[in-house]
Amino acid sequence: MRVLVTGGAGFIGGHLAEAFAADGHDVVVLDNFDPYYDTRIKDHNVEVGREAAEAGDGSYDLVEGDVRDAELVADLVNDADYVYHQAAQAGVRTDYSPRKYDEVNVDGTLNVLDAAREHDIERLVFASSSSVYGKPRYLPYDEAHLTTPISPYGASKLAGERYAMVYAERYGVPAVALRYFTVYGPRMRPNMAISNFVSRCLNGEPPVVYGDGTQTRDMTYVADVLAANRALLDTDAADGEVMNVGSTDNIDIETLATEIRDQLAPELDVEHTDAYDVDADHSHADVSKANDLIGYEPTYTIREGVEAFVEWYRENREWYEPLVRNS
Ligand code: NAD
Repeated sequence: MRVLVTGGAGFIGGHLAEAFAADGHDVVVLDNFDPYYDTRIKDHNVEVGREAAEAGDGSYDLVEGDVRDAELVADLVNDADYVYHQAAQAGVRTDYSPRKYDEVNVDGTLNVLDAAREHDIERLVFASSSSVYGKPRYLPYDEAHLTTPISPYGASKLAGERYAMVYAERYGVPAVALRYFTVYGPRMRPNMAISNFVSRCLNGEPPVVYGDGTQTRDMTYVADVLAANRALLDTDAADGEVMNVGSTDNIDIETLATEIRDQLAPELDVEHTDAYDVDADHSHADVSKANDLIGYEPTYTIREGVEAFVEWYRENREWYEPLVRNS
């Protein structure tokens, strides 16, 4: 199968491209190497993808380009059987203007959808986000929960997701949207909480928590996200559907920081700084819909996932740590 992974040099897209190439698929990655975090991680992701293709029966091609380029996107989608649309201006806390989120996350997604409408693809998987929910009315969220995002990022992901569902309903595009809940793991974006806590503790510096640490999160290990995406290669049961892909192992940020501190540097305190007002206080996924439709079942507890990440971090400390420290 020919699989197009937009944003495939990024964190989640990198894992998808690696896995699909290792599984013997012909992978094409479209990525513009946006420098909002250090692009050396993206270079590394590409290396990993190429090695996976060489070790397996698949192939790996990189196209450096932009999802805002409709013609390029149309060409690539036309050659694809599956499209995993991960490219986005990710993250709620960057200082980009709402317009940048809109141009990449909404217009870029429309380019992908328009191309998919013209071409008979097997499936289009859109990477959505728990940030579409905004502040919780109840927890855990199921997909029927109100969607009232509180950040430009969340608003743009909701718009992209709704377009995907409208294209599914009106134009028969076999689109699925997965709402990811705080994904972490090897090669994660360097500016995320877990990579920062681990890096600071290993360098004898206290982990710093935004706000009072009572915010709760589903932390989803990237292997579980990969499993959900992989399942969509084999089933049309979720076409036209939006599904939560989270972990059922919810944790508050203070406990997360404390556990990492206890494991790596018990002598340190946990420190606090100002909260971000674009962060939801709590996020927690009800994953029963994804379980019913595609058999999704998160397998990593937070403790297991953090342990796996720390092990990877230690092995890759030399090149990865400076990127985290500069983020
Ligand atoms: P990431 O930033 O590592 O990956 C996104 C990739 O898209 C990057 O490599 C970037 O260079 C590329 N990109 C950005 N703008 C582009 C453009 N205009 N044209 C082509 N490529 C472009 O982020 P990630 O954490 O891997 O997230 C992947 C997807 O999952 C995103 O759509 C994000 O919104 C979504 N998501 C991530 C999380 C998470 O916790 N990591 C949570 C919810 C949703």
